[in-house]
This record gives sequence, structure tokens and C-alpha cells, in this order.
Amino acid sequence: MRNVVIIGSGPAGLTAALYAGRGNLQPLVIRGVEAGGQLTLTTLVENFPGFPKGVQGPELIERMQKQAEQFGAEFKEGDVTRVDLSTRPFLVELGEEKIHTQTLIIACGASAKLLGLESERKLLGHGVSTCATCDGYFFRGKEVAVVGGGDTAAEEALFLTRYATQVNLIHRRDQLRASKIMQDRLLRNPKIKPIWNTVVADILDPAQGEVTGLKLKNTKTGEETLKPLDGVFIGIGHSPNTSLFRGQLEMNEVGYILTRGGAKTSVPGVFAAGDVQDPVYRQAITAAASGCMAAMDAEKFLETQH
Ligand code: NAP
Repeated sequence: MRNVVIIGSGPAGLTAALYAGRGNLQPLVIRGVEAGGQLTLTTLVENFPGFPKGVQGPELIERMQKQAEQFGAEFKEGDVTRVDLSTRPFLVELGEEKIHTQTLIIACGASAKLLGLESERKLLGHGVSTCATCDGYFFRGKEVAVVGGGDTAAEEALFLTRYATQVNLIHRRDQLRASKIMQDRLLRNPKIKPIWNTVVADILDPAQGEVTGLKLKNTKTGEETLKPLDGVFIGIGHSPNTSLFRGQLEMNEVGYILTRGGAKTSVPGVFAAGDVQDPVYRQAITAAASGCMAAMDAEKFLETQH
């Protein structure tokens, strides 16, 4: 029987683990398939306080994990396949393995959204990617596209200029959503070519098993054009990883877990932190802060039970 099980190992889960560890609760962290979360897919993080020169995303995660381990947090590889939150202790299953816990902290983050095209699904990992820092290197000396107009797309596009000859930024409107500083960097970069008011109608060519080009559609005129290139990065945002909890916890219409009074969910003893419950801020620092809240709430909950 565990005091606290934490699902997810991004900044929210690791900060929860640090606080629960220091609270002597011996938390168990289940790291998940995308262990370390979105920070492990990024490069320089310039806006996490305490690092005036910035810090590499994977290094920040590694440091957070070490710090939690120092206070007795245990880590387990693997992915949760089912949870039962109907009675306490709660049940958490990883395949055949069953873990019982008095409290649960859900910090399993959000994953990259896709456009939903059949060709995109077929070519994922064969020229279609959601992570420039993971796959950018494969496009040395090639022409690529990034889809989206937010900070994710901006960051992906800027990173890809290290390798690609040209980065086409395909955005469905003619105004970017990205922060001002990222917009300035994007628009100043001679390798980045914005293509405004345009959506990807199809990705070519699943029959060849690789990306050879994009069929683009202008949202204003409806005109369709063909753009030959070698790779496409989808940077259109993220959706929360909450399918495990559907029907068991209150969520909003797009699946973000609803929290109240700190990190409390609709089930007493279950807490949520980070991107899984935050459709607005979605920063490493806000995720970490909510992880702290979740651990403190769990600690208080356990005290009231004894
Ligand atoms: P976002 O801000 O929601 O932007 C998503 C972009 O993709 C928007 O431009 C949107 O277009 C476009 N889009 C959405 N669905 C689309 C579709 N089906 N087809 C074509 N385009 C589509 O998401 P994000 O860029 O992932 O950023 C999320 C949060 O994380 C933000 O708060 C951001 O500041 C933060 N973030 C920060 C950093 C950083 O500080 N370095 C890096 C990454 C993310 P519209 O504009 O027309 O809606």
C-alpha cells in the first residue's frame, strides 16, 4: 500500500515527488511513455527562474528527478493501463501489475496534436514529426515545413534552421499567436518563409513511404498548390493525456481535468497538476508550482484520514 502514487515525470510530477518525498511520504512516480514530459523534447529553456543563462530541457528534468530521489522518491518505468478511482485505496494498474494507493497525483501532461490526415498518420516517423529537437538532424540540407502559429511552431521552426535549407511556416491565419519575442526571431530569420492563410490539405506521398511534398490550400481563396519538400513538423499545440480518467473525474469539454481549491479533483484523495489540468498557462514553472500544491494537498488529505 502506497501513501502517494504520482503518474507522470515532467516538472509537475517531479516537483510533487520532491515535496511528497520531503514530507516523508515515500512517493512512487510512474514515469510514463513520454518520460520527463515535453521538456525532454526541447532545447534551451530561458524562462525557468534561477538559470540566467538558460538550461537545457532534459538537464532540468534530470536535476529535478535527482532532487526528488534525494528525499526518497521511487521511480518506476512503464505506463499506467487502468485506474479505478471508485473506492479508496485507489487501484493503479500497469499491465498485470496492481498498485494500491491512499492518494493519487495525476501529472501525465499533454501530447502533441496532429492534423488528423490519413497521410499524416501513415508518414509519422517517415518525414512527419512532432519534435524538431528529436528529428531535425535528419533534415540536414533539406527543405521542410512547420505547421502552426504559436510558440511551439515558432520554436520548432527556429530550431530547424540549424539543419534545413529553408523552413516554410504554414499558418492558417495571417497573424501569429506566438509571443512577441518569438515572432521577432522568426520573422527576422532569413531561412524561415511564412506561408499565411494556408492549411495542409494532404501530405505526399504515403505510396512512396516518405514525405515528398504538401498539398496546400489557401483559406481565403480556396486555391490549392503543391509544395515539394522533404519533411513536415506539426506544431499546432497539445491535448491532455486524460483518457484513463474519462468517466471517473470531472473534466472540461476537451478533456482537461477540473481542479478546485488547489489541486483537488472531483474525487477526494485524487489530485491533478501540470498540463493535464491547465489549458491556459502550460509553462514548466506553473506545472512545477501546481505539482507542489498537489503534494501539499495530498499530505493534508492523508493527515485528515489518520
Ligand atoms: P497554441 O498557442 O495553442 O498554438 C497553436 C497554433 O496552432 C495556433 O497558431 C493555431 O492556429 C494552430 N492550429 C491549431 N490547430 C490547428 C489545425 N488543426 N490546423 C492548423 N493550425 C492549427 O499552442 P502552442 O504553440 O503549443 O503553445 C501552447 C502554450 O505553451 C502557450 O502558452 C505557449 O506560450 C507555451 N509555449 C512556450 C514556449 C516558450 O516559451 N519557449 C514554447 C512552446 C510553447 P490559430 O492561431 O489560428 O488558433
